[in-house]
Amino acid sequence: MTLQSFGVIGLAVMGENIALNVERNGFPIAVYNRSREKTDAFMAQRATGRNVKAAFTLEEFVALLERPRKILVMVQAGKPVDAVIAQLKPLLEEGDIIIDGGNSWFEDTERRTQELEPAGLRYLGMGVSGGEEGALNGPSLMPGGTTSSYEFLSPIFNKIAAQVDDGPCVTYIGPGGSGHYVKMVHNGIEYGDMQLIAEAYDLLKNVAGLNPSQLHDVFAEWNTTDELDSFLIEITKNIFPYIDPETNKPLVDLIVDAAGQKGTGRWTVQTALELGVAIPTITAAVNARIISSIKDERVAASKVLTGPSGKYDGQTKDFINKVRDALYCSKICSYAQGMALLSTASKTYNWNLDLGEMARIWKGGCIIRARFLNKIKKAFSENPALPNLLLAPEFKQTILDRQTAWREVIATAATVGIPVPAFSASLDYFDSYRRDRLPQNLTQAQRDYFGAHTYLRLDKPGSFHTEWVPIA
Ligand code: NAP
Repeated sequence: MTLQSFGVIGLAVMGENIALNVERNGFPIAVYNRSREKTDAFMAQRATGRNVKAAFTLEEFVALLERPRKILVMVQAGKPVDAVIAQLKPLLEEGDIIIDGGNSWFEDTERRTQELEPAGLRYLGMGVSGGEEGALNGPSLMPGGTTSSYEFLSPIFNKIAAQVDDGPCVTYIGPGGSGHYVKMVHNGIEYGDMQLIAEAYDLLKNVAGLNPSQLHDVFAEWNTTDELDSFLIEITKNIFPYIDPETNKPLVDLIVDAAGQKGTGRWTVQTALELGVAIPTITAAVNARIISSIKDERVAASKVLTGPSGKYDGQTKDFINKVRDALYCSKICSYAQGMALLSTASKTYNWNLDLGEMARIWKGGCIIRARFLNKIKKAFSENPALPNLLLAPEFKQTILDRQTAWREVIATAATVGIPVPAFSASLDYFDSYRRDRLPQNLTQAQRDYFGAHTYLRLDKPGSFHTEWVPIA
């Protein structure tokens, strides 16, 4: 019997598409799914004429694969991954490789690596981005683990990944859980991008009064620019003119304004708090989804809590351009935060992440793919030790040139009562980062007053405590 060169466990959206991608690139595959129906449907609907063998038990599956076995697990993150590994482990042999391609929590990946590698098995935790379409035609891949496991699999990864002008969208991320960590931060940045676009939409629709066709035109124009050309702007442009066939109305207007989330945005915020890195734009994006989800409570509140309303009283074209500038400046801040988080995580966990490479592999395949990532790659190539993207010459100049518009948009939003939490968080990040003196001298005085926490002084070295006697 000829053996297959690659195995995929889990035939939901991601698994079945990545399996077909691997096979199309010349690697015969074996597939297995816990419930038989998915395997049957996959074989009947998508695998005919392809070099795919199906297994209905893990024993059969393992027997179909050449050694060392290369097995991609694409199941729901969390306990299902542990369940699959527990069943698979006794069936595998020394040198076999398990790749977890789901959105696993990075500490779980570290734990699984420590459980499997001493037993002679190899383990890679690999972030996969791009959704259904990316999985099929070329995702962005973020594999973490040992370099030898990565090198062994790189001929396959290089072929199945999205291809951009400077290579396939895959690179060795680093050891242990680093691949899943980078994927998680990618998702956090994606939350930020989506919220910033939602705020631009809100302003253009409700302050400038644009209709869906005009919104389409504005986003279409933005999508031709060096700074905003991206997958998310492109799909946003396509969403506006889509007419619901049942009601003949724009579908976007019929969708309930309550956003779901699966947890990677929240994880990004949690780990940033753990590591002491400020990521206010991404945090604002997670909070915006949370507030959006209490729809009934908001509808009730809207009947009793009044606020201002109104339109922009200047030129519409001028306002549109200012919103574009505000969006771009905010986006730079959001990426600056994501990259600062990766930088701190890299130092904390000794991952030696190459931030320019992270930007490069996000240029294709994934949800945050964008022309603008070239600029981030360039910034870190020119200065790998760059403390913050805001200090890269091009980004610095962009913000200096556009900050007046950015401030005006946020001021207008506040005046007419439209929330722009991610725009505002980004501007606050910029203003906090660029100031040599913040008001936390007062915070330190308060902490010393009520808790004797001590403080440092500007004018002399040492640690000080004061008995803060009230002065009448
Ligand atoms: P999913 O809905 O997250 O998971 C469904 C798959 O997990 C099914 O194959 C299911 O098998 C299997 N499964 C669940 N519990 C199991 C268990 N205890 N034992 C064995 N198998 C079990 O699928 P998905 O959307 O394709 O995502 C797969 C992974 O990729 C997830 O970690 C997800 O977060 C990540 N991801 C998803 C996307 C996306 O756009 N969907 C993008 C990037 C990454 P049954 O059919 O038997 O229920």
